[in-house]
Amino acid sequence: MVATHTNFIDGASADPAAGRFADAHSPVTGEAHVKVARSGAADVEKAVASAASAQRAWADLKPIERGRILMKMAAHIREQMSAYAEIEIQETGKPSWQAPLELGGAANYLEFYAGLGNVGSGEMIDLGADYHAYTVAEPYGVIGVITPWNAPLNQLCRAIGPALITGNAVVAKPSEFTSGTTLRLAKDAVEQCGLPPGVLNVVIGDGPDAGAALVSHAQVAKVAFTGSVRGGREVGKVAAERIIPLTLELGGKSPNIVFDDADLALAAPGSLMGFALNAGQVCSAGTRCLVHRPIYDAFLGALEKAVATLKVGPEPDAMVGAITTHAQYQQVQRFFDVAASDGARLVVGGKEAPRPDSWGAGWYAPITVYADVRNDMRIAREEIFGPILAVIPFDTEDEAVSIANDTEYGLNAGIWTNTLSRAHRVAARVQAGTVTVNEYLTSDVELPFGGFGKSGYGKEKGVAALHYYTRLKSVRIKL
Ligand code: NAD
Repeated sequence: MVATHTNFIDGASADPAAGRFADAHSPVTGEAHVKVARSGAADVEKAVASAASAQRAWADLKPIERGRILMKMAAHIREQMSAYAEIEIQETGKPSWQAPLELGGAANYLEFYAGLGNVGSGEMIDLGADYHAYTVAEPYGVIGVITPWNAPLNQLCRAIGPALITGNAVVAKPSEFTSGTTLRLAKDAVEQCGLPPGVLNVVIGDGPDAGAALVSHAQVAKVAFTGSVRGGREVGKVAAERIIPLTLELGGKSPNIVFDDADLALAAPGSLMGFALNAGQVCSAGTRCLVHRPIYDAFLGALEKAVATLKVGPEPDAMVGAITTHAQYQQVQRFFDVAASDGARLVVGGKEAPRPDSWGAGWYAPITVYADVRNDMRIAREEIFGPILAVIPFDTEDEAVSIANDTEYGLNAGIWTNTLSRAHRVAARVQAGTVTVNEYLTSDVELPFGGFGKSGYGKEKGVAALHYYTRLKSVRIKL
């Protein structure tokens, strides 16, 4: 066993009240490698009480003082990058080139929000000479932040950046599979960066126990949830009962549209990384590739060639690593069968692909492309969260838009074209929270991010996210 992860509450480690721990398994070897706390309502109670009592003094600081601490946390992540990266590589099975990029993104969030303490904090409203009226954007108090396993610290910092700068305290519930870097940042922030104890607490445990207890707690005034539609729906039911606001960052089945005037030398590798990065475990992955009929065969050929250059496995030079959880690995295997029974044409990968010796017992999956997919097939409708692409041909721009929008989701969309007016036209008509043209996956801190439809609601990132971590009060004074 490499480590034990227990809760971090009020500036100190705290074992779960019921004394229960579970094993987390390595995606690289399949063996148990970390003991993790299985917390419940009693642990959440302690963490929320600590956050509630720390929050007032935290909110009373000048924003610039809170910002300085967030800056220190960002600098700390950068200084300790290799230690943080090692934890995420072991827990998620990511390749070694990728973890530092995502952790750099985590630091970027903290830096970006560190400087925004006074932005959008309120305005004067003119009610005539007899009144003095203004609005104030106030913190909610205690915010619950629930995160998944695919980019653990990055997703934590995306939420705690805006939550903390606006004066909230946080109880974080990371994924039970990948809690290492969340715990380490919370501890180091208190011990090395001057974050007051209680402002950021971490409770570790399963969703239906620790997660549900957090969402149900009477003093948790808002929840930022990143995860599956299933999890988001459960959280949403409790939030509806309690009448508290949510940010829901859920899944996707995003279209990536390649027109016949696109630069294929860019579109093929760009579309490949758009669905294969992080072994497809990316919410905004472009898993439905819609390809204009005149370039359909040429594009498939270029894609197949590009797949051959992408090494999957545990080696240091691999571009794609493991599937992080065993359940997710099994889901990917199931979808190979689903694609076959749907009648999709296998171009590369799938169950038939040889399994290299270097994969051992690790949860690695081949990069897989299916062609001639219809948009009503399950592989075009359901989020797989693995390196599987459904390629769908189309004849006209209208048809491309209609296939793109024929989904319950609406997180991301890609457009590859060299015609400026087409780029604008299609970007306007595609129903997705983010549209990228002539690139696919991007990771800007500045650009608001969040889905339409079953991909969720509320925004993370950018200045826009600040509105989702504050509530607006109007004050009207008769002079
Ligand atoms: P998940 O919903 O199973 O779990 C996410 C988190 O929620 C975990 O911490 C889990 O313990 C917790 N949880 C689960 N059920 C809960 C409940 N009833 N109450 C409270 N908490 C609960 O998702 P996952 O399998 O960890 O992550 C994969 C999913 O996350 C995919 O669908 C992916 O698209 C989505 N995702 C979305 C984004 C985004 O920004 N939109 C980013 C990354 C991942």
